[in-house]
Amino acid sequence: RTWGWSLAGELRQAAARDPGRPAIIDEDGVELTYQTLLDRAERMARSMRSRLGVQAGDRIGVLCRNHHGLIETIVAATLLGVDAVLVNTGLSAAQLSTVAEEQRLRLLVHDDEFAERVLGLPAELPRLDERAREELVAGALPGELHPPERDGRIIVLTSGTTGAPKGARRPTPSGFGPLVSIIDRIPLHAKDRVLIAAPIFHTWGFAALQVCFALRATIVLHRRFDPAATLAALVTHRCDALFAVPVMLQRLLEVPPPNPRPPLKVVAVSGSALPGGLAPKFMDVYGDVLYNLYGSTEVSWASIAGPPELRQAPTTAGRPPHGTRLEMLDDNGQPVPEGRVGRIFVGNEMLFEGYTSGASRETRDGLLDTGDLGRLSTDGLLFVDGRADDMIVSGGENVFPSEVEDLLAQLPQVREAAVIGVPDPEYGQRLAAFLALHPGETLDPEAVREYVRHYLARFSVPRDVVFVKYLPRNATGKVLSRELRRYYG
Ligand code: ATP
Repeated sequence: RTWGWSLAGELRQAAARDPGRPAIIDEDGVELTYQTLLDRAERMARSMRSRLGVQAGDRIGVLCRNHHGLIETIVAATLLGVDAVLVNTGLSAAQLSTVAEEQRLRLLVHDDEFAERVLGLPAELPRLDERAREELVAGALPGELHPPERDGRIIVLTSGTTGAPKGARRPTPSGFGPLVSIIDRIPLHAKDRVLIAAPIFHTWGFAALQVCFALRATIVLHRRFDPAATLAALVTHRCDALFAVPVMLQRLLEVPPPNPRPPLKVVAVSGSALPGGLAPKFMDVYGDVLYNLYGSTEVSWASIAGPPELRQAPTTAGRPPHGTRLEMLDDNGQPVPEGRVGRIFVGNEMLFEGYTSGASRETRDGLLDTGDLGRLSTDGLLFVDGRADDMIVSGGENVFPSEVEDLLAQLPQVREAAVIGVPDPEYGQRLAAFLALHPGETLDPEAVREYVRHYLARFSVPRDVVFVKYLPRNATGKVLSRELRRYYG
């Protein structure tokens, strides 16, 4: 066996070619070269094996924010052929217990800040806080690591926006190569410096990590996203690229841009829809550097829009990469004509291998159902309308929340907007708009309705307008519509 295309294999290659290149610079002041990162991950792997009895085929949980410890742990797992379950840091104590049980975790590595949240886990599940993990690395006994008899899988939990988080097995080793095809579509180069702001426990942040390893990039990490600190780090570390989620761009625009601007070539976002109007606003301040990728935990990534497409159509998710099939199908599985809404099906080499529960997603002719609705324009650009489940049927008419949200977000007083459907005795469902305003701003609900009426059909006008301080979001910045529904009891 060889180390192949696994994360461990990639790191070994990088360390052999460029041992002294900085691999990670994190907020804790830790700077690791590719060689030191590999050494530390190997030490951790040896200790996990000899002291904790962890072995190939086991599953460990990783509950960490973005810092060197997270990366060392994932690499250590793949070095041993162990599966690493990347746990969403937003999970509650109860959800965490469910995940630990369902995933049959053998060990949990966690940040100190989650010490309380892990208290309720079964006593027999060993846990490593930051100090215990450091001790494992420091106290490793000498020894050799051979390629494991099986590849360690990375299991990413879905965000749980629509229900309980599900474990999705990412394919490996074949998943690595096609994933890195992102590099074909965005101007990143070997040895670039990249700030990964998207959480690495999420598919998108993890994809960013794989891309960085393949490029032997220097990875800058912050535990939490803070717009001012991010801008300062982009300047200090002369970053070429930023990997983020859309809401982070909104936050970056709320603080004064540094002068001179950071020397960015690429700002890549994914994980949720790019709100209307955001792309041109962002590019006016930071240059034509924005890339919008559409994807999910299950399909990895399926399409990309670069600066020219986003200038032309600010909400587009662009075109599929080479080797990816994208089809809009109707309820009978037939392709819908251009411009018409259909269910988005994706076929590529990066599709997930199934949920750890044994469940799967519907496939047709090798294409996987994304659960999203969308349209292809005549020039082949994809527009994602949102989750089929989120579509509102009001008085028999279909309304996409995103269409109304994008319009509301254009009001100068509005900081962010979300629209949901709520049960209505007359119309089946009616629209409720939740608006968070900029500090000091006010709006009259009737003026909001009047504004929407001016642009959209009458059934798209929110009958309820609710003002909130902020919108509830998950760790990847997606608005939690189930929390909004709670407002209605
Ligand atoms: P769960 O399945 O548990 O509810 P989730 O679907 O929120 O979790 P992800 O796999 O992170 O977890 O989300 C993928 C979804 O996010 C896509 O199906 C799509 O609805 C949305 N999405 C991601 N990127 C984009 C994008 N660029 N434009 C529009 N929507 C996007």
